[in-house]
Amino acid sequence: MIQRDYLIIGSGIGGGSVCEGIRQYDKKGSVTLVGAETFHPYKRWLLSKQFLREKTPALKKLPYLDERWYESHKIEARLGTVVTQFNIDRRLAVLGNGETIEFKKACLAMGSRPVRPQVAGIGLGNVIYLRTIRDALALREMSQSEKLIVVVGGGLLACEVAASLRLGKLKVAIMHRHQTLLNRYLDPETAAWVTEHFAKQGVTLLLGSSLNGFEGKTVLRNIQTKSGERVPAGVAIVACGSEPALDIVRNTPLSSPLGSPVTDYLETEEKGIYAVGDLAFYPDRLMGGMRRQTHWENAREQGLIAGANITGKKRQRYEQIPYFWTEFFDLRLDFVGDFNVAPTRVQLTGSYAKARFVVRHYQGEKLRGIVLCHHSTSDVEAAKSELRQALGK
Ligand SMILES: Cc1cc2nc3c(=O)[nH]c(=O)nc-3n(C[C@H](O)[C@H](O)[C@H](O)COP(=O)(O)OP(=O)(O)OC[C@H]3O[C@@H](n4cnc5c(N)ncnc54)[C@H](O)[C@@H]3O)c2cc1C
Repeated sequence: MIQRDYLIIGSGIGGGSVCEGIRQYDKKGSVTLVGAETFHPYKRWLLSKQFLREKTPALKKLPYLDERWYESHKIEARLGTVVTQFNIDRRLAVLGNGETIEFKKACLAMGSRPVRPQVAGIGLGNVIYLRTIRDALALREMSQSEKLIVVVGGGLLACEVAASLRLGKLKVAIMHRHQTLLNRYLDPETAAWVTEHFAKQGVTLLLGSSLNGFEGKTVLRNIQTKSGERVPAGVAIVACGSEPALDIVRNTPLSSPLGSPVTDYLETEEKGIYAVGDLAFYPDRLMGGMRRQTHWENAREQGLIAGANITGKKRQRYEQIPYFWTEFFDLRLDFVGDFNVAPTRVQLTGSYAKARFVVRHYQGEKLRGIVLCHHSTSDVEAAKSELRQALGK
Protein backbone atom coordinates (compact mmCIF):
# COMPACT_ATOMS: atom_id res chain seq x y z
CA MET A 1 0.00 0.00 0.00
CA ILE A 2 1.18 3.51 -0.88
CA GLN A 3 1.31 5.91 2.07
CA ARG A 4 1.22 9.68 1.73
CA ASP A 5 1.00 12.71 3.99
CA TYR A 6 -1.21 14.53 1.49
CA LEU A 7 -3.46 13.22 -1.26
CA ILE A 8 -4.95 15.71 -3.71
CA ILE A 9 -7.71 14.38 -5.97
CA GLY A 10 -8.20 16.28 -9.22
CA SER A 11 -5.46 17.94 -11.24
CA GLY A 12 -7.25 21.10 -12.32
CA ILE A 13 -6.16 24.53 -11.15
CA GLY A 14 -7.70 23.87 -7.72
CA GLY A 15 -5.64 20.70 -7.14
CA GLY A 16 -2.50 22.24 -8.64
CA SER A 17 -2.79 25.27 -6.37
CA VAL A 18 -3.25 23.07 -3.29
CA CYS A 19 0.16 21.56 -4.13
CA GLU A 20 1.66 25.05 -4.38
CA GLY A 21 0.07 26.04 -1.07
CA ILE A 22 1.42 22.93 0.65
CA ARG A 23 4.94 23.51 -0.59
CA GLN A 24 4.99 27.07 0.74
CA TYR A 25 4.69 25.69 4.28
CA ASP A 26 5.80 22.08 4.12
CA LYS A 27 8.79 21.32 1.93
CA LYS A 28 9.15 17.69 2.92
CA GLY A 29 5.74 16.02 3.36
CA SER A 30 4.89 13.43 0.70
CA VAL A 31 2.29 14.71 -1.77
CA THR A 32 0.44 12.82 -4.49
CA LEU A 33 -1.75 14.61 -7.02
CA VAL A 34 -4.12 12.23 -8.84
CA GLY A 35 -5.81 13.46 -12.00
CA ALA A 36 -8.06 11.84 -14.56
CA GLU A 37 -6.72 13.99 -17.39
CA THR A 38 -3.27 13.25 -18.81
CA PHE A 39 -2.11 16.86 -18.49
CA HIS A 40 -0.68 18.77 -15.55
CA PRO A 41 -3.03 21.54 -14.34
CA TYR A 42 -3.63 23.88 -17.27
CA LYS A 43 -5.49 27.07 -18.14
CA ARG A 44 -8.86 25.54 -18.83
CA TRP A 45 -10.33 28.94 -19.60
CA LEU A 46 -8.23 29.17 -22.78
CA LEU A 47 -10.12 26.24 -24.32
CA SER A 48 -13.16 28.27 -25.34
CA LYS A 49 -11.04 31.27 -26.38
CA GLN A 50 -7.65 31.37 -28.17
CA PHE A 51 -7.36 27.58 -28.24
CA LEU A 52 -10.42 27.34 -30.50
CA ARG A 53 -9.67 30.47 -32.49
CA GLU A 54 -6.08 29.95 -33.49
CA LYS A 55 -5.19 28.07 -36.68
CA THR A 56 -3.04 25.53 -34.88
CA PRO A 57 -4.05 24.62 -31.33
CA ALA A 58 -1.68 26.42 -28.97
CA LEU A 59 -0.93 23.50 -26.63
CA LYS A 60 2.18 25.28 -25.36
CA LYS A 61 0.16 28.17 -23.92
CA LEU A 62 -2.00 25.88 -21.80
CA PRO A 63 0.16 24.70 -18.86
CA TYR A 64 -0.30 26.68 -15.68
CA LEU A 65 2.95 25.64 -14.05
CA ASP A 66 5.67 23.90 -15.96
CA GLU A 67 5.58 20.15 -15.32
CA ARG A 68 9.16 20.46 -14.07
CA TRP A 69 7.78 22.52 -11.17
CA TYR A 70 6.02 19.39 -9.86
CA GLU A 71 9.18 17.34 -10.21
CA SER A 72 11.41 19.90 -8.55
CA HIS A 73 8.95 20.30 -5.68
CA LYS A 74 8.68 16.54 -5.25
CA ILE A 75 5.00 16.35 -6.04
CA GLU A 76 4.12 12.93 -7.40
CA ALA A 77 1.64 13.55 -10.23
CA ARG A 78 -0.36 10.45 -11.15
CA LEU A 79 -2.06 11.66 -14.28
CA GLY A 80 -4.47 9.76 -16.51
CA THR A 81 -5.55 8.11 -13.25
CA VAL A 82 -8.98 8.14 -11.64
CA VAL A 83 -9.76 7.78 -7.95
CA THR A 84 -12.63 5.28 -7.90
CA GLN A 85 -13.23 4.95 -4.16
CA PHE A 86 -12.62 7.21 -1.21
CA ASN A 87 -12.93 5.73 2.28
CA ILE A 88 -13.22 8.54 4.79
CA ASP A 89 -12.95 6.46 7.99
CA ARG A 90 -9.95 4.43 6.87
CA ARG A 91 -8.35 7.37 5.04
CA LEU A 92 -7.87 5.30 1.90
CA ALA A 93 -8.32 6.02 -1.80
CA VAL A 94 -8.51 3.35 -4.47
CA LEU A 95 -7.20 4.17 -7.93
CA GLY A 96 -8.53 2.97 -11.29
CA ASN A 97 -5.62 0.52 -11.60
CA GLY A 98 -6.49 -1.08 -8.24
CA GLU A 99 -3.68 0.54 -6.24
CA THR A 100 -4.55 1.96 -2.84
CA ILE A 101 -3.24 5.14 -1.26
CA GLU A 102 -3.41 5.59 2.48
CA PHE A 103 -3.31 9.28 3.34
CA LYS A 104 -3.07 11.43 6.45
CA LYS A 105 -4.82 14.43 4.90
CA ALA A 106 -6.63 14.93 1.62
CA CYS A 107 -8.18 17.58 -0.56
CA LEU A 108 -11.08 17.06 -2.96
CA ALA A 109 -10.50 19.08 -6.16
CA MET A 110 -12.47 17.09 -8.73
CA GLY A 111 -14.07 20.24 -10.13
CA SER A 112 -17.26 20.09 -12.10
CA ARG A 113 -18.54 18.41 -15.22
CA PRO A 114 -21.03 19.53 -17.85
CA VAL A 115 -24.70 18.95 -17.16
CA ARG A 116 -26.15 16.43 -19.62
CA PRO A 117 -29.74 17.37 -20.43
CA GLN A 118 -32.16 14.44 -20.08
CA VAL A 119 -33.37 14.47 -23.69
CA ALA A 120 -33.51 12.01 -26.58
CA GLY A 121 -30.39 11.60 -28.70
CA ILE A 122 -27.98 12.99 -26.11
CA GLY A 123 -25.56 10.12 -26.87
CA LEU A 124 -25.42 10.74 -30.64
CA GLY A 125 -22.09 11.38 -32.31
CA ASN A 126 -21.34 15.10 -32.77
CA VAL A 127 -23.31 16.09 -29.67
CA ILE A 128 -20.44 17.25 -27.55
CA TYR A 129 -19.35 19.19 -24.44
CA LEU A 130 -16.39 21.43 -23.86
CA ARG A 131 -14.51 20.77 -20.65
CA THR A 132 -11.13 19.25 -21.45
CA ILE A 133 -8.28 19.62 -23.94
CA ARG A 134 -9.52 16.46 -25.65
CA ASP A 135 -13.01 17.98 -26.03
CA ALA A 136 -11.51 21.13 -27.52
CA LEU A 137 -9.35 19.18 -29.97
CA ALA A 138 -12.39 17.10 -31.01
CA LEU A 139 -14.47 20.24 -31.47
CA ARG A 140 -11.78 21.87 -33.60
CA GLU A 141 -11.64 18.82 -35.83
CA MET A 142 -15.39 18.32 -36.18
CA SER A 143 -16.16 21.97 -36.78
CA GLN A 144 -13.90 22.07 -39.82
CA SER A 145 -15.94 19.46 -41.64
CA GLU A 146 -19.50 20.42 -40.62
CA LYS A 147 -21.61 23.17 -42.13
CA LEU A 148 -23.75 24.32 -39.25
CA ILE A 149 -22.71 24.36 -35.62
CA VAL A 150 -25.33 24.93 -32.96
CA VAL A 151 -24.38 25.91 -29.43
CA VAL A 152 -27.10 24.98 -26.94
CA GLY A 153 -27.16 27.42 -24.00
CA GLY A 154 -26.84 31.15 -23.53
CA GLY A 155 -24.38 31.49 -20.66
CA LEU A 156 -20.69 32.34 -20.47
CA LEU A 157 -19.36 29.17 -22.08
CA ALA A 158 -21.99 29.17 -24.86
CA CYS A 159 -21.17 32.77 -25.77
CA GLU A 160 -17.41 32.19 -25.77
CA VAL A 161 -17.56 29.04 -27.89
CA ALA A 162 -19.99 30.55 -30.40
CA ALA A 163 -17.83 33.67 -30.77
CA SER A 164 -14.57 31.73 -31.16
CA LEU A 165 -16.02 29.45 -33.85
CA ARG A 166 -17.64 32.38 -35.62
CA LEU A 167 -14.30 34.21 -35.69
CA GLY A 168 -13.04 31.16 -37.56
CA LYS A 169 -15.63 32.02 -40.26
CA LEU A 170 -17.87 29.09 -39.37
CA LYS A 171 -21.65 29.15 -39.56
CA VAL A 172 -22.76 29.23 -35.95
CA ALA A 173 -26.13 29.40 -34.20
CA ILE A 174 -26.95 29.76 -30.52
CA MET A 175 -30.08 28.05 -29.23
CA HIS A 176 -31.17 29.57 -25.95
CA ARG A 177 -34.44 29.29 -24.07
CA HIS A 178 -34.43 32.94 -22.99
CA GLN A 179 -34.74 36.04 -25.16
CA THR A 180 -31.28 37.41 -24.38
CA LEU A 181 -27.82 35.95 -23.89
CA LEU A 182 -26.11 36.07 -20.47
CA ASN A 183 -29.51 36.90 -18.93
CA ARG A 184 -28.38 35.20 -15.71
CA TYR A 185 -25.61 37.74 -15.13
CA LEU A 186 -26.69 40.92 -16.88
CA ASP A 187 -29.57 43.36 -16.54
CA PRO A 188 -32.06 43.23 -19.44
CA GLU A 189 -30.64 46.28 -21.25
CA THR A 190 -27.01 45.14 -21.15
CA ALA A 191 -28.02 41.57 -22.04
CA ALA A 192 -29.95 42.91 -25.06
CA TRP A 193 -26.89 44.90 -26.13
CA VAL A 194 -24.66 41.80 -25.89
CA THR A 195 -27.25 39.75 -27.81
CA GLU A 196 -27.34 42.38 -30.54
CA HIS A 197 -23.54 42.25 -30.70
CA PHE A 198 -23.70 38.52 -31.48
CA ALA A 199 -26.32 39.13 -34.19
CA LYS A 200 -24.10 41.82 -35.77
CA GLN A 201 -21.18 39.37 -35.84
CA GLY A 202 -23.30 36.98 -37.89
CA VAL A 203 -24.26 34.44 -35.22
CA THR A 204 -27.75 33.07 -35.86
CA LEU A 205 -29.84 33.49 -32.73
CA LEU A 206 -32.50 30.91 -31.95
CA LEU A 207 -33.87 32.62 -28.87
CA GLY A 208 -36.85 31.53 -26.80
CA SER A 209 -36.11 27.99 -28.09
CA SER A 210 -36.05 25.17 -25.56
CA LEU A 211 -34.18 21.99 -26.39
CA ASN A 212 -36.37 18.93 -26.84
CA GLY A 213 -33.88 16.43 -28.23
CA PHE A 214 -31.29 15.51 -30.82
CA GLU A 215 -32.18 13.55 -33.98
CA GLY A 216 -30.07 11.32 -36.18
CA LYS A 217 -29.26 7.62 -36.65
CA THR A 218 -25.81 7.51 -35.17
CA VAL A 219 -24.70 11.06 -35.85
CA LEU A 220 -26.60 14.28 -35.23
CA ARG A 221 -28.79 15.61 -38.04
CA ASN A 222 -31.32 17.95 -36.39
CA ILE A 223 -32.00 19.55 -33.08
CA GLN A 224 -35.62 19.51 -32.04
CA THR A 225 -37.12 22.34 -30.01
CA LYS A 226 -40.01 22.04 -27.56
CA SER A 227 -42.19 24.05 -29.94
CA GLY A 228 -41.69 21.34 -32.60
CA GLU A 229 -39.11 23.09 -34.80
CA ARG A 230 -36.28 21.09 -36.37
CA VAL A 231 -32.96 22.87 -36.69
CA PRO A 232 -30.40 21.16 -38.98
CA ALA A 233 -27.02 20.84 -37.26
CA GLY A 234 -23.73 19.06 -38.00
CA VAL A 235 -22.35 19.58 -34.50
CA ALA A 236 -24.11 20.54 -31.26
CA ILE A 237 -22.11 21.88 -28.36
CA VAL A 238 -24.10 21.50 -25.20
CA ALA A 239 -23.29 24.29 -22.74
CA CYS A 240 -26.12 24.04 -20.22
CA GLY A 241 -24.17 24.51 -17.00
CA SER A 242 -22.03 22.29 -14.82
CA GLU A 243 -22.46 20.19 -11.69
CA PRO A 244 -19.96 19.27 -8.95
CA ALA A 245 -18.06 16.03 -9.67
CA LEU A 246 -18.67 14.38 -6.30
CA ASP A 247 -19.31 10.73 -7.24
CA ILE A 248 -16.56 9.33 -5.04
CA VAL A 249 -18.07 10.90 -1.91
CA ARG A 250 -21.73 10.49 -2.88
CA ASN A 251 -23.98 9.76 0.14
CA THR A 252 -21.40 11.03 2.61
CA PRO A 253 -21.38 14.35 4.51
CA LEU A 254 -18.74 15.50 2.02
CA SER A 255 -21.35 15.70 -0.71
CA SER A 256 -24.53 17.72 -1.22
CA PRO A 257 -26.42 18.69 -4.36
CA LEU A 258 -24.95 22.18 -4.00
CA GLY A 259 -21.35 21.02 -3.60
CA SER A 260 -19.03 19.81 -0.86
CA PRO A 261 -19.80 21.82 2.30
CA VAL A 262 -16.69 23.36 3.88
CA THR A 263 -15.84 25.84 6.65
CA ASP A 264 -14.25 29.28 6.19
CA TYR A 265 -10.94 27.40 6.24
CA LEU A 266 -12.10 25.14 3.37
CA GLU A 267 -12.10 22.06 5.62
CA THR A 268 -15.01 19.64 5.38
CA GLU A 269 -16.66 18.31 8.49
CA GLU A 270 -14.10 15.49 8.38
CA LYS A 271 -10.96 16.83 10.04
CA GLY A 272 -8.00 16.91 7.65
CA ILE A 273 -10.15 16.59 4.52
CA TYR A 274 -10.51 19.79 2.52
CA ALA A 275 -12.42 20.73 -0.65
CA VAL A 276 -11.69 23.50 -3.16
CA GLY A 277 -12.69 24.99 -6.48
CA ASP A 278 -15.75 24.23 -8.54
CA LEU A 279 -17.06 21.68 -6.04
CA ALA A 280 -16.61 23.60 -2.76
CA PHE A 281 -19.74 24.98 -1.10
CA TYR A 282 -18.34 27.59 1.27
CA PRO A 283 -19.63 30.28 3.62
CA ASP A 284 -19.25 33.65 1.93
CA ARG A 285 -18.56 35.98 4.86
CA LEU A 286 -18.37 39.03 2.61
CA MET A 287 -21.51 38.72 0.47
CA GLY A 288 -23.43 36.47 2.87
CA GLY A 289 -24.86 32.96 2.59
CA MET A 290 -23.22 29.82 1.25
CA ARG A 291 -21.76 29.86 -2.24
CA ARG A 292 -20.28 27.56 -4.91
CA GLN A 293 -18.36 29.32 -7.63
CA THR A 294 -17.36 27.75 -10.90
CA HIS A 295 -14.70 30.25 -11.84
CA TRP A 296 -10.96 30.24 -12.27
CA GLU A 297 -9.82 32.80 -9.66
CA ASN A 298 -11.93 31.14 -6.99
CA ALA A 299 -10.39 27.71 -7.63
CA ARG A 300 -6.90 29.19 -7.75
CA GLU A 301 -7.21 31.19 -4.50
CA GLN A 302 -9.02 28.43 -2.64
CA GLY A 303 -6.33 25.96 -3.70
CA LEU A 304 -3.56 28.16 -2.28
CA ILE A 305 -5.39 28.74 1.00
CA ALA A 306 -6.46 25.11 1.50
CA GLY A 307 -2.89 24.02 0.65
CA ALA A 308 -1.51 26.30 3.35
CA ASN A 309 -4.17 25.28 5.91
CA ILE A 310 -3.84 21.55 5.31
CA THR A 311 -0.20 21.65 6.48
CA GLY A 312 -1.37 22.80 9.91
CA LYS A 313 1.26 25.56 9.82
CA LYS A 314 -1.16 28.26 8.71
CA ARG A 315 -4.80 28.97 9.41
CA GLN A 316 -6.30 31.31 6.89
CA ARG A 317 -9.94 32.00 6.00
CA TYR A 318 -11.12 32.12 2.41
CA GLU A 319 -12.58 35.61 2.12
CA GLN A 320 -12.70 36.89 -1.43
CA ILE A 321 -15.18 38.99 -3.32
CA PRO A 322 -16.58 36.62 -5.98
CA TYR A 323 -15.06 37.39 -9.36
CA PHE A 324 -15.02 36.07 -12.92
CA TRP A 325 -14.51 37.33 -16.42
CA THR A 326 -15.48 36.41 -19.96
CA GLU A 327 -14.31 37.34 -23.46
CA PHE A 328 -16.02 37.06 -26.82
CA PHE A 329 -15.40 38.81 -30.14
CA ASP A 330 -13.84 42.16 -29.25
CA LEU A 331 -15.47 42.37 -25.82
CA ARG A 332 -14.23 41.62 -22.34
CA LEU A 333 -16.54 41.68 -19.35
CA ASP A 334 -15.46 41.45 -15.70
CA PHE A 335 -17.96 40.52 -13.00
CA VAL A 336 -17.34 41.52 -9.40
CA GLY A 337 -19.76 40.41 -6.66
CA ASP A 338 -22.90 38.36 -6.49
CA PHE A 339 -25.01 37.71 -9.58
CA ASN A 340 -27.17 34.91 -8.19
CA VAL A 341 -30.15 37.17 -7.58
CA ALA A 342 -31.49 39.61 -10.18
CA PRO A 343 -30.90 43.24 -9.16
CA THR A 344 -33.85 45.43 -8.20
CA ARG A 345 -32.10 48.40 -9.82
CA VAL A 346 -28.99 49.01 -11.94
CA GLN A 347 -26.91 52.09 -12.64
CA LEU A 348 -25.01 52.48 -15.91
CA THR A 349 -21.98 54.73 -16.35
CA GLY A 350 -20.19 54.95 -19.70
CA SER A 351 -21.70 54.01 -23.02
CA TYR A 352 -22.77 50.90 -24.90
CA ALA A 353 -21.91 52.67 -28.17
CA LYS A 354 -18.24 52.88 -27.15
CA ALA A 355 -18.40 49.39 -25.59
CA ARG A 356 -16.89 50.85 -22.42
CA PHE A 357 -19.12 50.99 -19.39
CA VAL A 358 -19.77 49.94 -15.81
CA VAL A 359 -23.10 48.61 -14.56
CA ARG A 360 -23.70 48.56 -10.80
CA HIS A 361 -26.28 46.06 -9.52
CA TYR A 362 -28.28 46.96 -6.42
CA GLN A 363 -30.66 45.05 -4.18
CA GLY A 364 -32.69 47.93 -2.79
CA GLU A 365 -29.99 50.40 -1.70
CA LYS A 366 -27.30 47.73 -1.33
CA LEU A 367 -24.59 47.39 -3.95
CA ARG A 368 -24.27 43.66 -4.80
CA GLY A 369 -22.37 43.46 -8.07
CA ILE A 370 -20.37 45.45 -10.62
CA VAL A 371 -20.02 44.58 -14.32
CA LEU A 372 -17.16 46.24 -16.17
CA CYS A 373 -16.84 46.26 -19.94
CA HIS A 374 -13.37 46.99 -21.34
CA HIS A 375 -11.73 48.14 -18.16
CA SER A 376 -8.23 47.58 -16.83
CA THR A 377 -7.12 45.16 -14.12
CA SER A 378 -6.71 48.11 -11.75
CA ASP A 379 -10.32 49.18 -12.43
CA VAL A 380 -11.43 45.65 -11.56
CA GLU A 381 -9.42 45.76 -8.32
CA ALA A 382 -10.97 49.17 -7.54
CA ALA A 383 -14.42 47.67 -8.13
CA LYS A 384 -13.62 44.89 -5.62
CA SER A 385 -12.58 47.52 -3.04
CA GLU A 386 -15.69 49.59 -3.75
CA LEU A 387 -17.89 46.57 -3.13
CA ARG A 388 -16.01 45.60 0.06
CA GLN A 389 -16.47 49.14 1.33
CA ALA A 390 -20.15 49.16 0.44
CA LEU A 391 -20.52 45.89 2.36
CA GLY A 392 -18.71 47.46 5.32
CA LYS A 393 -15.92 44.79 5.22
C1 LIG B 1 -14.03 25.95 -21.61
C2 LIG B 1 -14.03 26.65 -20.30
C3 LIG B 1 -13.77 28.04 -20.25
C4 LIG B 1 -13.75 28.70 -19.03
N1 LIG B 1 -13.52 30.04 -19.00
C5 LIG B 1 -13.49 30.69 -17.82
C6 LIG B 1 -13.26 32.11 -17.77
O1 LIG B 1 -13.12 32.77 -18.79
N2 LIG B 1 -13.22 32.70 -16.55
C7 LIG B 1 -13.39 32.00 -15.39
O2 LIG B 1 -13.35 32.61 -14.31
N3 LIG B 1 -13.59 30.66 -15.41
C8 LIG B 1 -13.66 29.99 -16.59
N4 LIG B 1 -13.90 28.64 -16.61
C9 LIG B 1 -14.10 27.92 -15.35
C10 LIG B 1 -12.77 27.49 -14.74
O3 LIG B 1 -11.96 26.90 -15.70
C11 LIG B 1 -13.06 26.53 -13.59
O4 LIG B 1 -13.75 27.24 -12.59
C12 LIG B 1 -11.79 25.93 -13.02
O5 LIG B 1 -11.13 25.17 -14.00
C13 LIG B 1 -12.14 25.05 -11.83
O6 LIG B 1 -10.99 24.41 -11.37
P1 LIG B 1 -11.07 23.08 -10.50
O7 LIG B 1 -9.66 22.69 -10.27
O8 LIG B 1 -11.97 23.29 -9.35
O9 LIG B 1 -11.81 22.01 -11.42
P2 LIG B 1 -11.47 21.43 -12.84
O10 LIG B 1 -10.76 22.44 -13.66
O11 LIG B 1 -12.76 20.88 -13.35
O12 LIG B 1 -10.46 20.24 -12.56
C14 LIG B 1 -10.85 19.08 -11.89
C15 LIG B 1 -10.01 17.92 -12.39
O13 LIG B 1 -10.29 16.77 -11.59
C16 LIG B 1 -10.39 15.64 -12.42
N5 LIG B 1 -11.18 14.60 -11.75
C17 LIG B 1 -12.52 14.56 -11.54
N6 LIG B 1 -12.87 13.43 -10.86
C18 LIG B 1 -11.71 12.75 -10.64
C19 LIG B 1 -11.42 11.52 -10.00
N7 LIG B 1 -12.36 10.78 -9.43
N8 LIG B 1 -10.13 11.10 -9.98
C20 LIG B 1 -9.15 11.85 -10.55
N9 LIG B 1 -9.38 13.03 -11.16
C21 LIG B 1 -10.64 13.48 -11.20
C22 LIG B 1 -11.03 16.17 -13.68
O14 LIG B 1 -10.79 15.29 -14.76
C23 LIG B 1 -10.31 17.51 -13.81
O15 LIG B 1 -9.11 17.37 -14.53
C24 LIG B 1 -13.97 27.96 -17.83
C25 LIG B 1 -14.24 26.58 -17.88
C26 LIG B 1 -14.28 25.93 -19.10
C27 LIG B 1 -14.58 24.45 -19.16
